[in-house]
Amino acid sequence: MKLKDQVAIVTGASSGIGAGTSLELARAGATVVVNYPFEAAKNAAEAVVSQIKSEGGNAVSYQCDVSKEAEVVKMFGDTVSQFGTVDILVNNAGLQKDSAFTEMSLDTWNFVLSVNLNGQFLCAREAVKEFLRRGVQPEKSVAAGKIICMSSVHEVIPWSGHANYAASKGGIMMMMKTIAQEFAPKKIRINSIAPGAIQTPINKSAWGTPEGMKNLMRLIPYKRIGEPSDIGKAVVWLASDDSDYVNGTTLFIDGGMTLYPGFEDNG
Ligand code: NAP
Repeated sequence: MKLKDQVAIVTGASSGIGAGTSLELARAGATVVVNYPFEAAKNAAEAVVSQIKSEGGNAVSYQCDVSKEAEVVKMFGDTVSQFGTVDILVNNAGLQKDSAFTEMSLDTWNFVLSVNLNGQFLCAREAVKEFLRRGVQPEKSVAAGKIICMSSVHEVIPWSGHANYAASKGGIMMMMKTIAQEFAPKKIRINSIAPGAIQTPINKSAWGTPEGMKNLMRLIPYKRIGEPSDIGKAVVWLASDDSDYVNGTTLFIDGGMTLYPGFEDNG
């Protein structure tokens, strides 16, 4: 129960990595705000809350589109009103809208950037404000607060056909490092996780058929697709005092995808 009495907001927690991470945080003792964007995802978010409660944990669902400033400000305000503070932010909400570069409309570019990068900026800003207001509470954690940004291997691996997504993840890397530098003296820790291929709805086209899965394995030296719990367990570590000297870094959790697997057989 390394996160006992701590409050975590997990954005985009009605599916995939966010849902898996919410379960792991609750198992570590955190109270979890399971964020979802729209009414259509409410049942999925409620199912995550129910599972947490059935295991004896504490969670609520909360609707908020992270690309909307007023909604993000309200989510943090309501969480502080209900639970006293926020100790952990998992900046996870993200999506893809793929397009050949020459066909990509400004709307398509802006849509992905508004959720993946603007959303992480807005949530991180509100979290840091709350961490600064509250300060360190040593009975809970030696840090004033922790942010884990969900990046991607595509913060370093270029990805043709996905310029908007790759740009958003590259942007997350520099935002994360910059604010980690700025707020380290205030005992706030900010890191990223860069998943490789994790089996969730976002990348079903990659693993949904035997042929797709076979092709995917060519990119993964460890020869298995990742599970949301692979990420969730690492989030718990990054949110706990066990990682207290880890700040401003990206943890790649990718089965070796960033090891240039094309060179495995002499290149
Ligand atoms: P997912 O299953 O599609 O989950 C994405 C979540 O974000 C969903 O709950 C989605 O809600 C929510 N969301 C979308 N727009 C939102 C908004 N405006 N405000 C709040 N929530 C919003 O995908 P995932 O694989 O778990 O992805 C989670 C994160 O991991 C993303 O940042 C993604 O880029 C990153 N990632 C994933 C992989 C992978 O292999 N799966 C690899 C690298 C990085 P709806 O379902 O209602 O749209």
